[in-house]
Amino acid sequence: MPSTIRTTTLPSGEAVPVLGQGTWKMGEDFSRHADEVNALKLGLDLGMTLIDTAEMYASGGAEEVVADAIAGRRDEVFLVSKVLPSNASRIGVPAACDRSLRHLRTDRIDLYLLHWPGSLPLAETVEAFDALKKAGKIRHWGVSNFDTHEMEELVSLPAGDSVQTNQILYNLSQRGPEFDLAPWSRQRGIPLMAYSPVDQGVLARNTTLEAIAARHNATAAQLALAWLMAQDGVIAIPKAGRQEHIRQNVAALDIELTSEDSAEIDRAFPPPTRKRGLQMI
Ligand code: NAP
Repeated sequence: MPSTIRTTTLPSGEAVPVLGQGTWKMGEDFSRHADEVNALKLGLDLGMTLIDTAEMYASGGAEEVVADAIAGRRDEVFLVSKVLPSNASRIGVPAACDRSLRHLRTDRIDLYLLHWPGSLPLAETVEAFDALKKAGKIRHWGVSNFDTHEMEELVSLPAGDSVQTNQILYNLSQRGPEFDLAPWSRQRGIPLMAYSPVDQGVLARNTTLEAIAARHNATAAQLALAWLMAQDGVIAIPKAGRQEHIRQNVAALDIELTSEDSAEIDRAFPPPTRKRGLQMI
């Protein structure tokens, strides 16, 4: 029986878990296929029912790993996938979505994101997302790697205010979004989906975090996740191929940071004092 994970609410009113599972780098090497599928399945068992993938990851290979992990339990899962900016045209979006649905072996994507801002007109992408919603192939849509001015442009478009999330690089090493993008999003009730939440493993080796984590019998990576998930309207999507990491990531939900912990974290990873352009990897 899956356990219940704390949730946040999308603008649509739907509740989604604040901790999900990333899949970048999965599906690249078939010798790791079973381990990757089993890691995602364990995450589902433990309640991490939001799975993030993209047509770009291993050119559809990551979506195929996800397909095997969710086989027979599609209704438990909140499935997020992404369209490449080069495919984000009126004709390209539905074609990319059909390919993703085939790779994922499902009839719908719960949340379909534009992977990053591209050169095709945003209004065309939004129109195409809207059409996919009407066709029942996606339930919601959103964006990724959009800075504040890009979000402003988006919400000014017809139907642009149906955006459900902005997936961005946000972790303790990258606190720039706290200056204006996070407050902007919070004010509008649009959750941020924080990718690379442990800075691709770098934060797991941070000695300051290790010292704070020791007070909670936790690891540095767990502290980094607990810090993110303590922010209002933030969803963290760590990628973990190792079962031990999956279990630790779920356990991070039980860590309650003290004001002393937060002050120490702010000294080691100072919050921004001026606008910095949104970074992406
Ligand atoms: P990440 O989740 O910050 O880091 C992944 C690395 O951290 C892996 O090497 C993993 O090891 C390790 N790790 C996970 N949990 C750990 C734990 N408890 N203790 C120690 N190490 C741990 O980085 P990411 O994969 O770049 O980001 C997460 C997801 O965000 C991606 O998979 C993808 O779905 C999404 N993403 C989106 C974008 C975008 O442009 N929208 C960009 C980047 C990423 P093991 O695998 O060995 O367990």
